[in-house]
Amino acid sequence: MSLLSATLDRVKPSPTIVVTTKAQELKAAGQDVIGLGAGEPDFDTPQNVKDAAVRAIAEGRTKYTAVDGIPELKRAICAKLKRDNALDYTPAQVSVGTGGKQILYNALMATLNPGDEVVIPAPYWVSYPDMVLLAGGTPVIAEARAETAYKLTPDALEAAITARTKWFIFNSPSNPTGAGYTRAELKALTDVLLRHPQVQIMSDDMYEHLVYDGFEFCTPAQVEPQLYDRTLTVNGVSKAYAMTGWRIGYAAGPEKLIGAMRKIQSQSTSNPCSISQWAAVEALNGPQDFLAANNAVFARRRNLVVDMLNQIEGVSCPVPEGAFYVYPSIAGLIGKTSAAGAQIDTDEDFATALLEETGVAVVFGAAFGLSPCFRVSYATSDEALTEACTRIQRFCAALS
Ligand code: PLP
Repeated sequence: MSLLSATLDRVKPSPTIVVTTKAQELKAAGQDVIGLGAGEPDFDTPQNVKDAAVRAIAEGRTKYTAVDGIPELKRAICAKLKRDNALDYTPAQVSVGTGGKQILYNALMATLNPGDEVVIPAPYWVSYPDMVLLAGGTPVIAEARAETAYKLTPDALEAAITARTKWFIFNSPSNPTGAGYTRAELKALTDVLLRHPQVQIMSDDMYEHLVYDGFEFCTPAQVEPQLYDRTLTVNGVSKAYAMTGWRIGYAAGPEKLIGAMRKIQSQSTSNPCSISQWAAVEALNGPQDFLAANNAVFARRRNLVVDMLNQIEGVSCPVPEGAFYVYPSIAGLIGKTSAAGAQIDTDEDFATALLEETGVAVVFGAAFGLSPCFRVSYATSDEALTEACTRIQRFCAALS
């Protein structure tokens, strides 16, 4: 009898973590490596949030809590959804978990049966297809190509939906492209979804607050109120509040689904960390002005990286609306050979040669389901970004 479950054969380890580990190993071996693979802000958690956590410890808020969140945090989430998204939810419609990742996983585990399909636009966040597979469902990939700025068209969504589609996973702004859907673009997708009542919508709003140039964020349940009863709106404090290590994510949706998610969490992790929950209450209820300051820095870095990448012949990089990623296409470089003699037939070849020959670590596009491209995270200093893009420019100029 095999030690490992058959389910495990269906999934792969996170490719972004594989790249980060390889870059760390090269760094430890003394190489001059610049990592552009990070999926987290390089800013520190705001001081008022840290103080709230220290207070929670001092006050002994260190015991088990309600499985899917303390009432104070659920109320803060309801207030946030009203304030930012004009959405009305009661605490009974809210679930808090150990990061957005656990929330998404709980929702898929709670709903998928063998044969159920989940439509995922590509490029996608690496975990969506594997989570669907772990939960026993079938991922159906719908391509959102560079020509449409990596945004899914209504026709591509329509073509991917079948009678077996249970979920459509929507992520704006997107990891890995940074693409943010305007209200009109999102409305065009929700119009398609209105025609398919069997489809539930999982909206991953994790990068909501990281938007630039006055872009107006919107979410499906807000854009199309008729979809409210079939939408799970997922969000968290990881990215906007620079709290990736605190592990708090949440969702709001139909009470029946929230109850099913609670059941799964009650038999796996139980409640998310009590101290982190109190910190998240402060993050959501406290001052939000640091967001504008952080976003000014991110927007500057995005422009720096996009400008430098677009100067390279064979590389084309749309200007994304949000998050802290850009996703250049390298269609013009495929088939070339690097200065050290590496043949560049795929984006994985490109990323491997780039790391080995220049010390710049990026994640190849195949990991996100759309090639030939790579992802750059610009959540690092202007100096590191300038140096990394200079090295990428030199590497590409030397291709023959
Ligand atoms: N959704 C997207 C699109 C992400 O990029 C991430 C993190 O990388 C998550 C969800 C999960 O975030 P968390 O740290 O809250 O689990």
